[in-house]
Amino acid sequence: MSAATPASAEAAVVVGGGISGLLAALELAKAGRDVTVLEAGDSWGGCVGSHMVGGLTLDSGAESFATRSSAVADLAAELGLAGNIVAPHPGGAWVQLPEGARELPKTGVLGIPANPWDPEVRRTLGLAGSLRASLDRLLPASAGTRAAVTSVSDLVRARMGRRVLERLVAPVVGGVHSADPALLDVDMVAPGLRAGIRTHGSLAAAVAAQRRGSASRQDDVTGQDNAAATSQPAAAPAAPPAKAGSAVAGLRGGMHTLITALVAELRRCGVRLLSSTRADVVARTANGWRVSAGERTYDASLLVVALDGPSAVGLVQEAVPDLAAHRPGAGPDVKLVTLVVDLPELDRRPRGTGILVAPQTPGIQAKALTHATAKWDWLAAAAGPGTHVVRLSYGRGGDTRAGKPRAGGADSGLPGGTGADAGDQGLLDAALRDASALLTVPVTSNDVLDWDVVSWGGALPFAAVGHRQRVADVRRVCAAEGNLVMVGGWLAGNGLAAVVADTKRQLADLIR
Ligand SMILES: Cc1cc2nc3c(=O)[nH]c(=O)nc-3n(C[C@H](O)[C@H](O)[C@H](O)COP(=O)(O)OP(=O)(O)OC[C@H]3O[C@@H](n4cnc5c(N)ncnc54)[C@H](O)[C@@H]3O)c2cc1C
Repeated sequence: MSAATPASAEAAVVVGGGISGLLAALELAKAGRDVTVLEAGDSWGGCVGSHMVGGLTLDSGAESFATRSSAVADLAAELGLAGNIVAPHPGGAWVQLPEGARELPKTGVLGIPANPWDPEVRRTLGLAGSLRASLDRLLPASAGTRAAVTSVSDLVRARMGRRVLERLVAPVVGGVHSADPALLDVDMVAPGLRAGIRTHGSLAAAVAAQRRGSASRQDDVTGQDNAAATSQPAAAPAAPPAKAGSAVAGLRGGMHTLITALVAELRRCGVRLLSSTRADVVARTANGWRVSAGERTYDASLLVVALDGPSAVGLVQEAVPDLAAHRPGAGPDVKLVTLVVDLPELDRRPRGTGILVAPQTPGIQAKALTHATAKWDWLAAAAGPGTHVVRLSYGRGGDTRAGKPRAGGADSGLPGGTGADAGDQGLLDAALRDASALLTVPVTSNDVLDWDVVSWGGALPFAAVGHRQRVADVRRVCAAEGNLVMVGGWLAGNGLAAVVADTKRQLADLIR
């Protein structure tokens, strides 16, 4: 093995070149550290990737960010992209229920309504559903807040009943976290909500308080996978009107332009960026850490691990055995099917910016659809009149049909499939069926100019019940090492707003 970096007191190694690793590298470089970033893949950005479909450069993963805090907007501004921040088209999002589509209410937090009698909520829940949900205001504050840990569904069912859970919360949580609300730790995916019940007296009031911004921190939806539903107050410069699905913003040209700018800035700062370099062993040295990647080793006094949870713990647990007990389960596998279609009938945006699918809806396999050209005006202009970009996502927690991670790319040679492989042909057929049903406009293979399938295997963190405690334990073990920090969505909470804010916080503490 050969040492590739000097073991100087200033040397820092970052493992993982997603947004959290790249941002960590920037903070370290600004603090005067000599930084090396190791990334297993051949491109930067992790879940904030890009692919070319039908001649358009599109986001292959994250395509927007929550504007509940200014974290992402501030980073964009720091990288010279402030002028590129855009609000989505104010068309709002929809939810597909077994009996048909409804406009998604301005629901507040993860689909949980601030007011069960809001006309859109009432239409979605029915009279009986709204009546049951309003019982929440009569229940003692202890209902749903007593247990040390609880799932999203236990909390919602206890306070507002089954209809809120099935018709509002499950579609939103499925679209954002690709998981069943029964499996997710409510304190991780909606921090502050349970405490808000005690402060404000009911779940609806706690949601309303978060919407007013009076709660300290929210982990509302990210807009990921699309339509995803939020109506949090917008704080970023591009604050859009309060329509469901609109408390997010994007970047003209796509979210991946943030990564392009970040990588350019890192190069300017002299950071060594090593792609196609998978870290496989971490060991303790007298002065810090030694990271091995194949035949090469990288010594550093500071180590930042910016990977998904299972990989992060798996990499470091031999050097730091106390971590082994805190390894999380793997996240769900998600497949995104992107269609570029020549279909002028979609110019009228039949389902606004997109539609989330309630899990019990018969006949639809997709969990969400984003009408990207209806959502982003810059993309509609780039595509041209009559040409549309539609993205459908497949795979909920526990669904093992989706494959291993692969960034988008053109390699299969299948006619019409940018980077698809033979197994994806069936998914294309499902996507055409689902798009036709969800958009109420027939979408056939004749309309398809190009398509692609991108698999994100285990890329979304799985915040199982009790995860918040796991995060605290991991942070305690790392802090005890003194020169080790872990960052990323599995610790910060899913979504760019959470990841950017948390990474900055963690790095500030480490550098201090
Ligand atoms: C399909 C999808 C859509 C999303 N949409 C949105 C959205 O619209 N809005 C939003 O806010 N959030 C969205 N998210 C979530 C958001 O993208 C993530 O929370 C965030 O990008 C996570 O960043 P990260 O740095 O923690 O991890 P990742 O982006 O997963 O980065 C980890 C990196 O580590 C690399 N790596 C893995 N193992 C090794 C190793 N051994 N050595 C070196 N490198 C390694 C990986 O290749 C990867 O590049 C989406 C996520 C997905 C999967």
